[in-house]
Amino acid sequence: MCTSTHGELLNLQSERRNSFMADKCKYIFVTGGVTSSLGKGIISASLAKLLQARGYRVTIQKLDPYINVDPGTLNPYEHGECYVTEDGAETDLDLGHYERFLNTPTSQANNVTTGRIYQEVINRERRGDYLGKTVQVIPHITDEIQECIKKLGNTGGFDFVITEIGGTVGDIESLPYVEAVRQLRLELENRAMVIHLTLIPYLEAAGELKTKPTQHSVKMLQSLGVQPDVIVARTSHELGESIKKKIAQFCNVRKKAVIQSIDASTIYEVPLMMKEEQLDEVVLNKFDLEDNIKPDLDSWISFLNKIKYPKSRVTVGLIGKYVELKDAYKSILEAFIHAGAYNECKVKVELIHSESVSKGSLSEHLSHLDGILVAPGFGERGIEGKIETVKFARENNIPFFGICLGMQCASIEFARNVLGLEDAHTTEIEEKSKEPVIYLMEDQKTVTEKGGTMRLGTYACAVKKDTLAASIYSSDNITERHRHRFEFNNTYLNEFEKNGMIASGKNPESGLVEIIEIPKHPWFVGTQFHPEYKSTVDNPHPLFVSFIGAALKKHNF
Ligand code: GLN
Repeated sequence: MCTSTHGELLNLQSERRNSFMADKCKYIFVTGGVTSSLGKGIISASLAKLLQARGYRVTIQKLDPYINVDPGTLNPYEHGECYVTEDGAETDLDLGHYERFLNTPTSQANNVTTGRIYQEVINRERRGDYLGKTVQVIPHITDEIQECIKKLGNTGGFDFVITEIGGTVGDIESLPYVEAVRQLRLELENRAMVIHLTLIPYLEAAGELKTKPTQHSVKMLQSLGVQPDVIVARTSHELGESIKKKIAQFCNVRKKAVIQSIDASTIYEVPLMMKEEQLDEVVLNKFDLEDNIKPDLDSWISFLNKIKYPKSRVTVGLIGKYVELKDAYKSILEAFIHAGAYNECKVKVELIHSESVSKGSLSEHLSHLDGILVAPGFGERGIEGKIETVKFARENNIPFFGICLGMQCASIEFARNVLGLEDAHTTEIEEKSKEPVIYLMEDQKTVTEKGGTMRLGTYACAVKKDTLAASIYSSDNITERHRHRFEFNNTYLNEFEKNGMIASGKNPESGLVEIIEIPKHPWFVGTQFHPEYKSTVDNPHPLFVSFIGAALKKHNF
């Protein structure tokens, strides 16, 4: 007699599909040569998009050769934004690109660092799992790397796993990764391929493109036992047939497999450029897969056209302390692009240093803006500038969006200037604050370790009826991603609400305030969570869409 429930049957079916897929899953490795920052992440995401647009299930993984267990403890100046996944993993910002391009969530399994690999191997050694054996880079570290790669293919039900190897071939720290790729290729036989991304510099004085650095970098890869199947050549000038032929000859690949990646005006153009170069066809041919289904890129093209040919333009200010490095606010800047396309307008973002904003300079920095976003952040530097910025936006009816620390600053400003609590602060900055309107969450009080210990990842939020948030989300139950230790102090909430700032979203279990707003203001919203992580090309985030809509309204007023 069959006693399985419907749910169990579904699970069984999906397990069967996954194990069936695991035997068929194809692995594409993307390595980089000559220099870093050539855009491996964008090439990986673009190829994934093209395969997805042909109906394949694709995921992308990033292997980072640094020793930090994750980038959560890294200063944004070092490595740009820390991207947070649904499952609360603090990851490399490339995962943001993967999600924005594919509109599918990633998880901890999509980002692995050398630190994490070693931690796992050392933990095993301490447990006695290798008893009697000498634990070595080869095979133990390289085996662990291979496990991390195959895990995605074995459990995710994917047709393709694209694995981007961080760093540049030839670096000491990426050697174990290249070795793992070499071994995996042997094991997977015709289910694996390697794409190598290099730079073809243009020498102004000679007026020529140079292939030598690419030749050297491919030689380096070959000397490690890996022959690339495809060369993606990043260039500022058209390569032309003769250069492609030369690269093919010297690097031992077919000419069709030399793909030009010319500088683009927007990263969202790259999938179409890769289609033009037939990267997806070369990949499918390599795996003996049909290439006759045309990729469905209609919605992507329509999005791109909206970016390229906007009907209007708004200027928003992003006030933060890492503005020298745009990558520190990557997801916010991309969410603005998505929301701009939705509103068919160009969003010009002015990055304003929170330390440069002070009482005397507010108007000079802020009065021309159509909207103001106060950024997330940590620590004291620039916080008073952020609080003054909120005041200016609130008093001058400029659409205001505060994210995480930005929302906390909005609460502090309201407490100081509307409730008259001039000592209001966050205990992050003033531990013994007399009016701690923002304070440490209860379960953070005993936390001493820094890595992975914040309130991280997806939590539910109940949205209050008849609020701006409710009308924006068109739902009373949402989920958003978090990365913080401090929270709104609910003992002050009554006072806030009586005076015009309400909590329009709360966590249903803990009662933590997740969204604040000022109903009398044209558009004033603060979120304890980070909506920017969830904005994608196919699904621009409703809060960003509405904020840009409000900025547009102000602009046209
Ligand atoms: N520093 C604040 C906290 O930990 C805000 C964090 C953030 O903006 N991501 O709560």
